[in-house]
Amino acid sequence: MRFDVVTLYPDMLRPFFSQGILQAAQEKGLIDIRLHDLRLFSPDLRGLVDDRPFGGGAGMVMRPEPFVRAMEAVTQETGFPPFTVLLSPQGALFTQKVARDLARRPALTLLCGRYEGVDERVAQMCHLELSIGDFVLAGGELAAAVVVEVTARMVPGVVGRYASVATDSFYQGPILGFPQYTRPRTFRGLAVPEVLLTGDHPRIRRFREKEAWRKTLRNRPDLVGLDLPPSPGDGCRTCKGS
Ligand code: SAM
Repeated sequence: MRFDVVTLYPDMLRPFFSQGILQAAQEKGLIDIRLHDLRLFSPDLRGLVDDRPFGGGAGMVMRPEPFVRAMEAVTQETGFPPFTVLLSPQGALFTQKVARDLARRPALTLLCGRYEGVDERVAQMCHLELSIGDFVLAGGELAAAVVVEVTARMVPGVVGRYASVATDSFYQGPILGFPQYTRPRTFRGLAVPEVLLTGDHPRIRRFREKEAWRKTLRNRPDLVGLDLPPSPGDGCRTCKGS
């Protein structure tokens, strides 16, 4: 699978993509990640990519031409228009399911914004806008790194043992993965659950299923339609103050 990332800061992403599982997958020819410097696609001689917002307001907005020229250049390289995603906090939420769908495509182009965001017409020319969560980053680069890594893990062969992907959180639906333990058997007074040492695999499977549900209900009750527990910012539950 091919990934093209269009960004003002390719050097920010280069080290991330050249280590660990992503590097290994590229060396095996399973994925191909290409970084494109947005500034090189600016029609402006000085390489400007932003301008003041129509209608007024703070900050600068990224102009559409460099993104569209970059998209056209990628299409020319691939020979077909790749599935193109604009990274934006206004996008649909990126989830494991979205990653599985994206991983079925031969090529994915990711566009990273900066400043106050990207001219809305770019969003209209993309297949999808994706957000990695309900918060605002300074730029789309971290979001692109997240989308590439999560999607690449879904490409067959990238994770050595596919079984480890299939037992991940969210893989089997709205449930977290089971808690894992390794040596030592006892650490600072905390013992590994006895059942994991028995070698009784049906029992171990049942234990892990139960623990996965326990953890889901404790940490992410929203996944099964229940209310989330209060967050630190909600203040003290007992005194109803801060
Ligand atoms: N003014 C925009 C808004 O309120 O929606 C936020 C712009 S943000 C400072 C600059 C860029 O960071 C965005 O264009 C986008 O590419 C990226 N970005 C920020 N938060 C993101 C998120 N949660 N998911 C994906 N991309 C994000």
